[in-house]
Amino acid sequence: MQREPDALRAALAELGQRSLLRRRVVDEAELANAVGGHAMRAGRDVLNFCSNDYLGLARLPEIAAAMATAAKHWGAGTGASHYVSGHGPEHQALERELAEFTHRDAALLFSTGYMANLGAVAALVARGENTLQDELNHASLIDATRLSGAKSWRYTHGDAEAAAAQAAVCQSSSSQPLALVATDGVFSMDGDLAPLPQLAKLAVAARSWLLVDDAHGLGVLGKTGRGSCEHFGLDSEQVPILVGTLGKAFGSFGAFVAGSADLIDYLQQRARTAIYTTALPQPVAAATRAALRVAQRDAWRREKLQELTALFRDRAAVLGLHLASSLTPIQPIILGEAARALQVSAALLAAGFWVSAIRPPTVPQGTARLRVTLSAAHERADVEALVEALAQAVQSRLE
Ligand SMILES: *Cc1c(COP(=O)(O)O)cnc(C)c1O
Repeated sequence: MQREPDALRAALAELGQRSLLRRRVVDEAELANAVGGHAMRAGRDVLNFCSNDYLGLARLPEIAAAMATAAKHWGAGTGASHYVSGHGPEHQALERELAEFTHRDAALLFSTGYMANLGAVAALVARGENTLQDELNHASLIDATRLSGAKSWRYTHGDAEAAAAQAAVCQSSSSQPLALVATDGVFSMDGDLAPLPQLAKLAVAARSWLLVDDAHGLGVLGKTGRGSCEHFGLDSEQVPILVGTLGKAFGSFGAFVAGSADLIDYLQQRARTAIYTTALPQPVAAATRAALRVAQRDAWRREKLQELTALFRDRAAVLGLHLASSLTPIQPIILGEAARALQVSAALLAAGFWVSAIRPPTVPQGTARLRVTLSAAHERADVEALVEALAQAVQSRLE
């Protein structure tokens, strides 16, 4: 885009015409009167069905208190990168606890999941090498491959046979190795799981790394919340690079890569997004440590989440709502056009339910949707009321 007087305004107007403008809205809910699963929009209490706070930890007073205590002890900022003088005891302890939690040798903190993916992929994959990834992988994995300069081979979403076919074409047509297979564990906009056992076999056969970004699986899936790998019974041999984020089920902020001691040591030398950036505040690490303890202590949060997910699907089926095949707390209702998704979202808000519309380019053209996310902070009655309102909002638009 060139710098013409109206270039930006024209681009914005065009997005507006296509119902694709993004607008942030303010959630005014305060901790002092926070009720789980609720939000405050323009002075009005609404039920929040579009946050990734699956376990209801983001506003838990116990975790906020751990953060406040650490802030008094360590201060707000770290003042430098982890490799200069910014690495503190809370970071050190959190990395050890994350490694234990994920059953890996070691873990390395990053400031965000976006940075974890950029850093890990660009460190491991060289320009000209090949990567294989699901077509619906998170934007950060797509961008990570771009940054590395590798060629990206995309396969049909969730299709292990298509992945194997792409790997075969790649290997017969490229002189460079297939260095990396990368996938979301749980797909962020669809809620379905990647075929990890098959992808693990494929990666081993190709002598390629397998990276699983389990942003939406950790804390939620598996008997003890260890995520997609636990769900499928896969170990660190089968999934050598595990990326986790801390701003979703753990209700805090930040991310990590977990793996072998050598992998983590190597990433410390080569992952530029971990090296050339200020260390995460220690109070954030302290809050995450508290969240990790609560997530492991309160198995009921995971169980309740499963119950609410089943309840949502049962009620939605009775009312004739068209659901995707997701068995996770991410439950998309695909509506098609962006304008329609905005209208149904607005109707829901008027009824007291916050479910944001997800539109292209976040999801493919023609698949604009409402992405309902459930949380252990919700109650059964909340979910029942949501489904009723959803059915009304979707059906009234059909008339
Ligand atoms: C949210 C998300 C990320 C990014 O994590 P942040 O910590 O929010 O930057 C990466 N991958 C997936 C699959 C995600 O859903």
